[in-house]
Amino acid sequence: MDHIIVAATQNKHKIKEIEAITKDFGLSVISRSEAGIPDVDIIEDGETFEENSYKKAYEIMKLCGKTTIADDSGLAVDFLDGAPGVYSARFAGVDGDDEANNQKLIDLLKDVPYEKRTGRFVSVITMVFPSGERIVARGEVEGHIVLEAQGENGFGYDPLFVPDGYDQTFGQLSPEIKNKISHRANALCALREKFKKKEESL
Ligand code: IMP
Repeated sequence: MDHIIVAATQNKHKIKEIEAITKDFGLSVISRSEAGIPDVDIIEDGETFEENSYKKAYEIMKLCGKTTIADDSGLAVDFLDGAPGVYSARFAGVDGDDEANNQKLIDLLKDVPYEKRTGRFVSVITMVFPSGERIVARGEVEGHIVLEAQGENGFGYDPLFVPDGYDQTFGQLSPEIKNKISHRANALCALREKFKKKEESL
């Protein structure tokens, strides 16, 4: 039987990816609106992906009383000492302005050679149960940043990120490929293993 899990995120792109990745996991992920949760703003004031991920999952679990997962994610660029990191969504000032965020990244890296434009996407997924117990899983994907947006797929920094082993950006690669190798896919696979172990121990 499928376990119904509420996704704390309001980001439609993330929900679509989470649904696609988890469809064979025996987990049915439903959105906040499907779970009848009122529109609430959760302030992401943590200094780590782990803190923000837990905060989102816990607050939504409190509102609906059901097992909830939350993804907190972002891009960490080595040349920028890990920035934009937890500030990825509002790097250029306005939350969710992907175009401005991408332009800021291009401006900061424009004189940096390709081989030094390394970084990774990070996703931390926290599952919080009504008991308050939690499972945390982290996933990453390494790659390089390009200085011209390429491709229409995905969201956020996808048009600027070339994952290692490929010569196209996540904006150009198909959703099927992204959902096999992405930070979110790696985090959700790790979460599934931890969830299975928890179920087996009951
Ligand atoms: P969050 O909603 O606070 O976790 O912010 C996530 C931000 O990180 C997004 O707004 C994007 O800017 C960036 N991000 C996270 N995951 C991805 C991805 O899969 N592709 C592109 N950008 C991403």
